[in-house]
Formats: sequence, C-alpha cells, structure tokens
Amino acid sequence: MGDVIIRAAAANHQIRAFAAVTKELTEEARKAHNTSPAATAALGRLLSAGAMMGVMMKGEKDLLTIQIKSQGPLKGITVTADANGNVKGYVGNPDVILPANAKGKLDVSTAVGDGFLNVIKDLGLKDPYIGQTALQTGEIADDLTYYFATSEQVPSSVGLGVLMERNNTVRQAGGFIVQLMPFAEEGVISQLEENVRKVTSVTDILEEKDMPEYLLERVLAGMEIEINDKIPVRFTCNCSKERVAKALISIGRKDLTEMIDEGKEIELNCHFCNKNYTFQVDELRQLLKQSK
Ligand code: ZN
Repeated sequence: MGDVIIRAAAANHQIRAFAAVTKELTEEARKAHNTSPAATAALGRLLSAGAMMGVMMKGEKDLLTIQIKSQGPLKGITVTADANGNVKGYVGNPDVILPANAKGKLDVSTAVGDGFLNVIKDLGLKDPYIGQTALQTGEIADDLTYYFATSEQVPSSVGLGVLMERNNTVRQAGGFIVQLMPFAEEGVISQLEENVRKVTSVTDILEEKDMPEYLLERVLAGMEIEINDKIPVRFTCNCSKERVAKALISIGRKDLTEMIDEGKEIELNCHFCNKNYTFQVDELRQLLKQSK
C-alpha cells in the first residue's frame, strides 16, 4: 500500500479530520536530499502536514507553501503541496546531527530553533492568503496547532511523527489534523481533548497498524467516524530542463553573456528535489537568443 491521506468527518460533522501515512514520500525526500535523521524527521513532519493541508484546499490549481524560517542548525524548511496529493520540500541544512532529546527522540525542536511559520495559499485569487505565526516549540505539530488557532481561528489538533530505522531509512511516518467546527458541542470538545491527551506518539500508533484509518480511530475514539475520501500522496517535483531554461532566460542578457564568456558549462540545482541541470555553453548561447 502506498502513501495515502483520508478525509473524514466525526461526531455528526462537528469534527473534520485528516490522517496520513507518509512513509514512502518521507523516504523519497530523504533519498533525494540525503538528509540526516533529525533533518529527515523535521522534513517528513512538515511534508506530512503540507500534504494534508494541500488536500484541504478545494481548487485543482490551488498551491500551498509552508515555510519555517528559523534560527536552528536546520536553517529552515520549505514545503509546497497541491490539492491532489503532490508534495515536495527541502531543508536549509540536510546534515544536521544532534544528540537525542530528553525523551530519547530525534531532537527536531533544537534542529528547528526559534522563528516563524509562514503559510501561503495561492487559491487563484488576486492576492495569495498569507498567515504568519511565531514558532511555539519547533516540534512542528504544536506550531501548526497554534497557527490554526490564531491565524485561521480554527481550534485544531495536529499530530505528526517520523520514526527511523537503525540504518537511517524511514520506518514510519504520518500524522493527523483534527478540527472542531464552530457548532461543536461541549461534550464533543472535551471528548476530543481527552483522546488527544492519550495520543502521545503518532509513530507508536503507526507501529501497531500503519493505516490512516487506525490513526483516526485512536484520535476520534468513541465518536462516529465517516470516511469521505482517500487520496494517494507522493513526493514529486515538477521541475524540468525547460523550466530551468526559462528561469535562466529571465535572468537577462547581461548575466547570460557573462556566463557564456566564462566558457564553462553551468550546473543548476532544483532546491525542491535536488536534481541538477547542466547547460553547455552552446545551450546558453541558444538561451541568449531567446532572451530580451
Ligand atoms: Zn525539482
């Protein structure tokens, strides 16, 4: 079974919920960027959240970007996702090595450090929606819970987790986002709060059964769950040599001419998937002809 997100409602639509298993896409990201375990955990958590938040958008062409701009040694994270389960992302420094935290877990909080979380939604309107909140713990799930409460005014609970194998490949990854609708009754709210308190580790639950349905059964225990949609998700990048060439053309004649005069091939890197594109001097000359 590949990675998948489920969209669900519970307690008579007083709750909307998303849960994801993202083991394969997190492993894809790890391989693409050759990330250390702490960097893999941080990136995998944000990719999981990004994939779910992408699916929350309605339009085919809607695009979500989540940026963590922070002071820690990871040097920030950027993730983008669309509404169809395509997600990609990168960290500023993939080599971060840190001792385990007090709980013996990968220390994502220290890797991330203090800073801000930006959520940018391009919904095809004149201006994109931009929400910015301060990071609360740098554990990412807490920071997104805070973001939903303050920036979108939706009381939410976010859980994210990445567990590594001893050989530093990804063993488990996934998460959930559960949101209370404005008409949620007191009893539903307190039941959810109690459930969430009991869920101390997403990856412990995934170790029992790595299915998004099972995650929701735990988070929404005692409530009637209605699963509405199942969306496959993947780590994928839409870069291509043509796109990179377009970017090169747009830097202008002066810079292009300088590159040609140097007489060396140039190599450009896509941050999102870490793929390299090489342009020979002859190709640069062709681009110069297309440049204005
Ligand atoms: Zn790419």
